[in-house]
Amino acid sequence: MILATPGPVEVPFFVQKATLGETIHHRTPEFKKILEETLSLFKKLVNLDDAVFLASSGSGAMEAAMINVVKKKALCVNAGKFGERWGKIASAWGLEFTQLCYEWNTPANVDDIMATIKSQSDIDSFFIQISESAGGLRHDVEEIARQIKQYNPEIIVVADGITAVGVEYIDTTNIDILITGSQKALMLPPGLAMLGFSQQAIKRIGDGRGFYFNLATEIKKQREFTTAFTPATTLIIALKEVLHKLIDEIGLDTLYHKTAIRHEALLKSLEAIGLQIYPTAPAKSMATIYHEDAQKIRNIMKEKYQVNIAGGQDHLKGKIFRINNMGLIEDHKMLWIVNSIEKTLDDLGVREYDATASKIFSQINKID
Ligand SMILES: *Cc1c(COP(=O)(O)O)cnc(C)c1O
Repeated sequence: MILATPGPVEVPFFVQKATLGETIHHRTPEFKKILEETLSLFKKLVNLDDAVFLASSGSGAMEAAMINVVKKKALCVNAGKFGERWGKIASAWGLEFTQLCYEWNTPANVDDIMATIKSQSDIDSFFIQISESAGGLRHDVEEIARQIKQYNPEIIVVADGITAVGVEYIDTTNIDILITGSQKALMLPPGLAMLGFSQQAIKRIGDGRGFYFNLATEIKKQREFTTAFTPATTLIIALKEVLHKLIDEIGLDTLYHKTAIRHEALLKSLEAIGLQIYPTAPAKSMATIYHEDAQKIRNIMKEKYQVNIAGGQDHLKGKIFRINNMGLIEDHKMLWIVNSIEKTLDDLGVREYDATASKIFSQINKID
């Protein structure tokens, strides 16, 4: 079975192998060295000077960021399941927040955001997804962050990059906290969350808040290459291998270029067989297709062609399907996936198979 969901993604063999060693104790010089190297590689990936890893899924990092930076009021963008989560976290902690809601295919509008910030002077922090995975949507976070910082540099900008970090270059000039997780573009098993920080974020965090997710404690410890609690040692060891591969062996520019071209090829091949791309601003992490028979398509893909693709949630349940474009996906696998989608449409009597999808995919997915 091919795992083609936009998280978790397939864990390549070199990563699986990296998880197989003996469990080492975390309070040892060996692990300290591994943590130091891995943090340093991660800071290169996100272009930020400080970072911590947490033993948690990505949502834990979202919660950690919120509780540590919201001192007055948060402004959250909710254009999907993950954007909605900011508000849920704030409510659970009794934090004051306001949110701007968008349809799941529509990116946040920078003018709405600036108008809200200008009219509510107690907003001290801003929360958004870079790639909102619920509808495969890309928010223009860099431009939004630039305008926010230009208006008021004291507002802390928090970006959930869980399906963006490792997919494309992210300009972190105006981003204070960038969040990511292990099981998406970084191709690890689930269970590790990572955060990068600007110096301004660290100032805002101050003494921190909470206990396990107190970022002040964790930043202090991880600057000394140790952790407040038992870290996910195995996942950090594997992360070191992944980052080494992506940064030193493949090169980030090459990785981002390949991912972008494969994305273009994926979208164009699906459009060529009559499918409708759901988001108006698609994120490079996935292809999201709107289709009334999405559930039937997913069932045939799984049962007949051994490809596991994702569906939708809430009002999009049974209405969309999502194909992953994160990680080191081999061309032959993506070719099988688009070809299987075309075969599935034939199976459903929607469109007669003529190998258009694989033809278009191969024509576009060429690296010069
Ligand atoms: C997967 C994901 C998360 C975090 O989900 P976890 O299940 O907690 O790891 C957060 N934001 C986005 C955009 C995601 O895709």
